[in-house]
Amino acid sequence: MSPPQDRPAVTQETLARDLSQLGLSPGDVVFLHSSLKSLGWVEGGPDAVIDAFLEVVGGEGLIVVPTFTWCFAHGGPARFAFDPRETPSRVGKITDTLWRRPNAYRSAHPTHSIAAIGHRAQELVAGHDKTSTFGKDGPYGRYVEWGAKILFLGVDLCCNTALHAIEDWLDLPYLQVEEAIVKGPGDTPQIVDVTKSPSGDRDFYRRDSKVERLLRQAGIIRRGKVGAADTLWMPSQEMVEVVVKGIYQEPALLLCDREGCEFCDRYRQPTIDHIRESRPQV
Ligand SMILES: [Zn+2]
Repeated sequence: MSPPQDRPAVTQETLARDLSQLGLSPGDVVFLHSSLKSLGWVEGGPDAVIDAFLEVVGGEGLIVVPTFTWCFAHGGPARFAFDPRETPSRVGKITDTLWRRPNAYRSAHPTHSIAAIGHRAQELVAGHDKTSTFGKDGPYGRYVEWGAKILFLGVDLCCNTALHAIEDWLDLPYLQVEEAIVKGPGDTPQIVDVTKSPSGDRDFYRRDSKVERLLRQAGIIRRGKVGAADTLWMPSQEMVEVVVKGIYQEPALLLCDREGCEFCDRYRQPTIDHIRESRPQV
């Protein structure tokens, strides 16, 4: 297959060059949200994209992707039992290709698993199971501690799951317990509770959200082109700092202000009370 005549070819080499120009370096830890089709026609497909990232961060670097499956027992799109060795990722071709590589490690979380390749990959995903989706002692806490860059390749900040980690660390009252389906002993489907699950609405699921404006004002978002994709990234530690300060100022920052949003209406006042009374620390 050859590239369309009217567009320049996107290759592993051009992608690696673009990523370096955007500010990625050897040794980086990168949490990658992605859309393959946003890049234009890529010679070598998703594998070329993954190889470009691995090339730029090098042997001391680490690439992490969400491989969410949303295997909820009720109301989810995927009513089948989760198995980290076979359940496809539902968040894009790049993520679904990455976890299948022999040197990738995938976590066992039934709805929000992640996968990683590179330095300390196994350590990153360790212990990520139903008991804590975004817990500080799990992958989200580790990658922030390791100074990860959160990168949005052709997607916008609506998919910034690290914001759910901040909700978890501040113990905000609107994370829920949900039932998920996993493969139990003898491959029998088994229903398990997932604690602190990010159900319900959020303001940042829409463009130009309150938190997006806050992050823009803080000046921590770097932008550029990778292939044809509008791409941005920000340092996770600075993001956590800015958002936590923002939540102290406005506790319902991550909830929406739309009229008639039952979820956000229900949890607005309990969230304000929780932040004002408990002053939780991350
Ligand atoms: Zn809402």
